[in-house]
Amino acid sequence: VKYVYTWGAGKADGNGGMKPLLGGKGANLAEMTRIGLPVPPGFTVTTEVCTYYYANKKSYPSSLQAQMEAGIKNMERIMGTKFGDAEGFPLLVAVRSGARDSMPGMMDTILNLGLNDQTVLSLEKATRNPRFAWDCYRRFIQMYGDVVLGVQKREGEDHEPFESLIHAYKHEVYQTDIEDSKLTADDQQELVKRFKDLVKERTGKVFPNDPWDQLRGAAGAVFGSWMNDRAIVYRRKYNIPTEWGTAVNVQAMVFGNTGDTSGSGVAFTRNPANGTNEFYGEFLINAQGEDVVAGVRTPEPVANLKDEMPKSYAELLRVRSILEKHFRDVQDIEFTIQEGKLFMLQTRNGKRTAAAALKFSMDMVREKLIDWKTAILRNPADQLDQLLAPIFDPAEVKKAKPIATGLPAGPGAATGRIYFNADRAVAAAAKGEKVLLARIETSPEDLRGMIAAEGIITARGGVSSHAALVARQMGKVCVCGAAAVQIDYDKKIAAIDGQTFAEGDYLSIDGTNGTIYAGQIKTAPSEIIAGLLHDDKAAQKTEKFKHYAQLMAWCAKATKLQVRTNADTPDQAANAIAFGATGIGLTRTEHMFFEGDRIDSMREMILADTVAAREAALAKLLPYQRADFLGIFKALKGFPATIRFIDPPLHEFLPHTKEQQMDLARKLEIPVERIMARVNELHEFNPMLGFRGCRLGIKYPEITRMQARAVFEAAAEAQKAGVKARPEIMIPLVGFKKELDLQVAIVNETAKAVQTEQKVRLTYKVGTMIEVPRGALTAGEIAQTAEFFSFGTNDLTQTVLGMSRDDAGSFLGAYQEAEIVKKNPFASIDQTGVGALMRVAIENGRATRPDIKLGICGEHGGDPDSVKFCHKLGLAYVSCSPYRVPVARLAAAQAAV
Ligand code: ADP
Ligand code: MG
Ligand code: MG
Repeated sequence: VKYVYTWGAGKADGNGGMKPLLGGKGANLAEMTRIGLPVPPGFTVTTEVCTYYYANKKSYPSSLQAQMEAGIKNMERIMGTKFGDAEGFPLLVAVRSGARDSMPGMMDTILNLGLNDQTVLSLEKATRNPRFAWDCYRRFIQMYGDVVLGVQKREGEDHEPFESLIHAYKHEVYQTDIEDSKLTADDQQELVKRFKDLVKERTGKVFPNDPWDQLRGAAGAVFGSWMNDRAIVYRRKYNIPTEWGTAVNVQAMVFGNTGDTSGSGVAFTRNPANGTNEFYGEFLINAQGEDVVAGVRTPEPVANLKDEMPKSYAELLRVRSILEKHFRDVQDIEFTIQEGKLFMLQTRNGKRTAAAALKFSMDMVREKLIDWKTAILRNPADQLDQLLAPIFDPAEVKKAKPIATGLPAGPGAATGRIYFNADRAVAAAAKGEKVLLARIETSPEDLRGMIAAEGIITARGGVSSHAALVARQMGKVCVCGAAAVQIDYDKKIAAIDGQTFAEGDYLSIDGTNGTIYAGQIKTAPSEIIAGLLHDDKAAQKTEKFKHYAQLMAWCAKATKLQVRTNADTPDQAANAIAFGATGIGLTRTEHMFFEGDRIDSMREMILADTVAAREAALAKLLPYQRADFLGIFKALKGFPATIRFIDPPLHEFLPHTKEQQMDLARKLEIPVERIMARVNELHEFNPMLGFRGCRLGIKYPEITRMQARAVFEAAAEAQKAGVKARPEIMIPLVGFKKELDLQVAIVNETAKAVQTEQKVRLTYKVGTMIEVPRGALTAGEIAQTAEFFSFGTNDLTQTVLGMSRDDAGSFLGAYQEAEIVKKNPFASIDQTGVGALMRVAIENGRATRPDIKLGICGEHGGDPDSVKFCHKLGLAYVSCSPYRVPVARLAAAQAAV
């Protein structure tokens, strides 16, 4: 088996399409080599080795060593150097982890591997640069000691142990904190000695001198880091399967720290925060890679290179354009300049905010880099709601006082109480507080806190800092590098602009322009919401609104699956139509019974002893329902409305506290004992499987009759007012054909009566929800009566999995952790289980009635993966809440292109 893939000097075993095997970094290093970009040679140890490692008690395949030796030989040939050479210029390597997608939380990169007490001397001799040679060796021991040997900060220590030694040394020799770059070769040499002593003291082992021992140790650390806590947390958040594993890249070193004609940088080919087409990044002269993101020295904008190293800058711009043309997407690159020569160390598709994704996609279509279908795919459906998220209320923000500014790293507006540590932020958010996480800078340990927070503030760090990176990806509002924010972790305060803020105080941040404000600021709808729902003309003229409109127009062109909405009021229906919904997929009629005094008539109906008394109470409800339906038909302007008849168990409508029961007794002029008795009677041990759904209409047909009458009278009235009404009456919780037959008979009778009375002709459909397994299994029979099926995937999930949605919270976490379920099945359809039953129902339903209309109306209708699954099943529509309609439309279009 081939475990090692080499690249270098224009040739590569692998290519950019091999990310599963080579990881993202390795595959793209191979690809860049192939297209002739300057990449230092190296090799990738495949993800299969990672799989093997965990399957075989952390051991390696026997042929791996020989393959790695061949890989090193290839690098030696191209570089003209030798690994472990104690005479000439030694080959030094970087060891770099590389999962399919870059993953914060994985092992840090180790640079300068191959240095030891002998090779440091040959490096010194070959370069005639002792300061450089010993600087490299000192860095190597520090990185290797930290990430491979685990010499890290212990509890109670304030600083990293290696950094503490440097600090102490500087004070001992220079009596002050001089810059690292001022340390002489002798200083570095002394530090190397002290570092090794520290390693010995902390680990009991001697620092490995043999380059091959070093290399095997580093590779093992990369594979080991796949299972560390931080990596596991990250994978869970982004649903990355454990089986993927990571690759290891071993690459010849190039040096950004040889002097003032060298340096290291990171950049995006376009601005990943707001989407502007500008070269965007940071650079440090005379530095090795990690320095740029570590925040020790403040990097300068990459544009400054234009003056400082014009030739390298021109080369960089050339590479920028080659990369965008080749990958046809915005790239996030890492590079090093060694004595004026540019080397590419990494490229990948840049993580971006939703706003940037939208602008990139529109600009790139105009530039003919991509077509409109690709543009649809370039906008992640699950990020789209970032664009719909509120901004600060323009009037309110004018009154607010800015107290600091930083870099706008994650657009949007956020207000919340500040917390200075991730654990406390998580705890506060769990109590329902809106939280801002404020840190001097963030590290992967802060990930949980960042997830819990509305927004993130850092005092240090640039556009490529950890905070900026994570915020972009999670769509968090973020202002980073706000130097005026002086945080004191011990005292739990932040001094900003002469004011002191304690933990729990409110701040507001605008991540679109980088401003920080004291206190809370009211938010306002985003331009897109304002333009669509409030007909705000100024908002409609913004670029963001126009781009969004264009995207949705393309979605409409591509899509097969319609998107309807779950709506119970005319307002909700109108909003959904403005978002592009093509009808209502679910009206929960019982919600209407809770408004105003109607609940009293409802309760009267439930408490009634006789059919006549029940009918009298229902007669009071009829006009309300009729008016509601009329409003909905008008808001729909001819689009169809699926109306579900009463579904929940009756006890949900009755008062449960003693006082409320007394009140009701007074109102209805009946003894409170009767109410208490009825509540008792209706009590159920398992209401989810109890007296609900069509079972209510079977026992009390007069309820169905009233609801049908309300629908048809409203339809008649709408039609007389010139609005076409298209009701689709849906009977819930059907498991037997006979249940549906009985209910449909009432509906049809009522329709006939109303048409005669009102002298109109109405069109309507009657169908059912498929939400219990028996209904799905006998769908062939049920389809003889049902003109449509709507999968009620909420209940179907509960009944197929035998899990109550309200109780699953206590164990679903453990299930996800153990990877029994990949995602919460109540949020994203269980495609293998519930999906299989849906397939059965669809097949049998269609066999009976080929043109049967199929849709879903569970919460899943707004989940991108579930929408794509519904497209595959060939459903006609999904239905979701009004504000999820854009997300569902985008996902539906993505499934179709
Ligand atoms: P990450 O995945 O955390 O970005 P990388 O493997 O990309 O880790 O390495 C981080 C940094 O280390 C790079 O940005 C680069 O500056 C430096 N680096 C990596 N490989 C080399 C190399 N072959 N020569 C010089 N510097 C390197
Ligand atoms: Mg990198
Ligand atoms: Mg249901």
